[in-house]
Amino acid sequence: MLHIHEDYLRSGLFGLQDGLVSTTGVVVGISTGVEDKAIIVLASLVAVTVEATSMAAGQYSSEKAVHQMDKTGKHTDSLITGALIMFVAYLIGGLVPIIPTITFNQPQARIISILAAFVGLFLLGYIKGKLVEHKPLRSAIELFVIGSLATVIGLVVGYILRV
Ligand SMILES: [Zn+2]
Repeated sequence: MLHIHEDYLRSGLFGLQDGLVSTTGVVVGISTGVEDKAIIVLASLVAVTVEATSMAAGQYSSEKAVHQMDKTGKHTDSLITGALIMFVAYLIGGLVPIIPTITFNQPQARIISILAAFVGLFLLGYIKGKLVEHKPLRSAIELFVIGSLATVIGLVVGYILRV
């Protein structure tokens, strides 16, 4: 079996999860608050690229601190590779709810985005659970709940501040 350094695995899973959860909240919030499709797509794409960059930078600097403190020699992973994995994983996760907003029109697009994100979160939770040999269904439901929270927050803020 292909061996992947656990730090890369962590950045990848974290990026996918955060990309899915945050971007779904953003897409739902903006599409609840405005009707113009171009604005919804633009705002979502800006949010996902800025966030992916910021997460990659965060991954780089937090992992750097861990490496500086490490005395065990386990951290043979490259900081740049970890940051790149975070960036790409975040974008992939974020595109799951964004693609339906590009492809379809509102309000159906919003519902398809939520469904796509929830299927993605459920699968990710399941795979994560399988990888760590921990109850996969439980881990799938856990991600599902986290995703629901972000979606509801996006909905409420978008509804209150709608223009
Ligand atoms: Zn490391």
